[in-house]
Amino acid sequence: MSETRKKTRPVKVGPITIGGNAPIAVQSMTCTDTRDVEATVAQIERLTEAGCEIVRVAVPDEKAAQAVAKIKGRIKIPLVADIHFDHRLAIGAIRNGADCIRINPGNIGRDKMGQVIGEAKERGVSIRIGINSGSLEKDILSRHGAPTAAALVESALRNVHLFEEMDFHAIKLSVKASDVPAMIEANRALSEATDYPLHLGVTEAGGLVNSAVKSSIGIGVLLNEGIGDTIRVSISGDPVAEVGVAYGILRALDIRRVGPDIVSCPTCGRCEVDLFRLVEEMEDRLSGMKDYFKLALMGCVVNGPGEAAEADIGIAAGRHTGLLFKKGKVIRKIREEEFADALMEEVHAMLEKRVRSKE
Ligand code: SF4
Repeated sequence: MSETRKKTRPVKVGPITIGGNAPIAVQSMTCTDTRDVEATVAQIERLTEAGCEIVRVAVPDEKAAQAVAKIKGRIKIPLVADIHFDHRLAIGAIRNGADCIRINPGNIGRDKMGQVIGEAKERGVSIRIGINSGSLEKDILSRHGAPTAAALVESALRNVHLFEEMDFHAIKLSVKASDVPAMIEANRALSEATDYPLHLGVTEAGGLVNSAVKSSIGIGVLLNEGIGDTIRVSISGDPVAEVGVAYGILRALDIRRVGPDIVSCPTCGRCEVDLFRLVEEMEDRLSGMKDYFKLALMGCVVNGPGEAAEADIGIAAGRHTGLLFKKGKVIRKIREEEFADALMEEVHAMLEKRVRSKE
């Protein structure tokens, strides 16, 4: 990370701290029908397994607000209830055990917000003020002519003042846009203007590839400037992939070392093994692993030994064979069909050794 992280006020979401010196937390959101408790819990379990630290569920009606209680009783990570328009749903979700609620106060109204804030205060629940380019207050939108970065920030600050007037400070802020430069500009300005923790995300980012690109740029640029306390990557698809991309961003910036970092070459005419299959198999076999290590899968001996040598474990392939490296040293030569099993064996041995050395 090139710049020092901006110091923000710590805010709790259940047992997890957002802001202050706390690690940048990874969030996701379920895409199941919240009223379908079984499907929602199953998806949250998969997200938890992948390393998701906070999960958000949509609460569009009374039945979904009631489902929050049942879901909360069965999951291990804090839950954020996502509410729009109806303050009674926010109050219901808080009473049913939500650790935090996400609302866009602009579409709820001042008096009703007061009731929500009263309930949140009583139960120690935090609130994310989530400003989206698609749902700005009418007066702000007409003054700015478009959902510009300045319009998003004005809306966020207006709501911050409303909360402060009601003496409520357990707030996180997000200003999201699908336009990456606007999202970056808005968060920079918001970070200057306030010390509440910021939740970063590029909204409506698209499918896996498009979202990974937009999120890595939007979230990554800001994190690299020390801005942001929690992140959510939005993907049209399985939310488990959001968690993988989020940790990829944090690893690439060396902000958090979680999960294996697989370094592999694109291959070229020199490669004489099926490297793509190996990469896929290793990604699959290592998925959900929380320990950080660097695994290099290299297609030939040109750059292979150099890259593999820098990794914790690696392979530099030859003709249907490969040199297995560990911490810069060749351990042995193996056949292509042994690659995946031999790598897994070394990974497990290394992790066991780490555990033993901590004991
Ligand atoms: S490591 Fe070898 S196979 Fe892979 S891209 Fe480089 S030269 Fe090609």
